Amino acid sequence: MSPFALAPSLYGHIEVVCGPMFSGKTEELIRRVKRAQIARQRVQIFKPMIDNRYHDENVVSHSAQSIEAQPIECSSDILEHLYDSTRVVAIDEVQFFNEDIIPIVKKLVRRGIRVILAGLDQDYRGVPFGPIPHLMAVADRVDKVQAICTVCGAPATKTFRKNVEDDAQVLVGETDLYEARCGNHFEYHEEEELISYRKAAPEPTETSI
Ligand SMILES: [Zn+2]
Repeated sequence: MSPFALAPSLYGHIEVVCGPMFSGKTEELIRRVKRAQIARQRVQIFKPMIDNRYHDENVVSHSAQSIEAQPIECSSDILEHLYDSTRVVAIDEVQFFNEDIIPIVKKLVRRGIRVILAGLDQDYRGVPFGPIPHLMAVADRVDKVQAICTVCGAPATKTFRKNVEDDAQVLVGETDLYEARCGNHFEYHEEEELISYRKAAPEPTETSI
């Protein structure tokens, strides 16, 4: 056995679970949290206050599995509420936080904490959502989960919005306005995808790598 395997590991682990709506992201987050609890690790679960669907202090999946979570207004609240003995931090609906969550996650992982993040990878236009693309890039593990297309039954990676008149990125709590769709049954918004990419990613240069 390598001597390094015996050394206490200080660096934690970042896991991202992402996909469209109705893909079971929250169920997967809850499953991982429950396993950590069985292993007697102290877990803290957070979610953005904006997400007030179903129940205020629970992370609840569409299949009605639930677990207690602390609603927070901004990502820096995580550090304020963190206990010294916490080994696992789970955050649901990560796409609703702004980019300030990125250094917070990095701080947690440097403290040796396992960070489990669940959220939408794309909005209804197919545009990468909030801090998720960055977090996927720096994660140690990324799982993209799929839903089922409501039109054809194929694996679905997109969230389709039935009513696009309101251009808010996500209409919170209005899950009946959305459907999971496969690539064949999704409405593309290519122009917006390109604009958002140009804003997020400046031209790569030779010195970028
Ligand atoms: Zn389809």
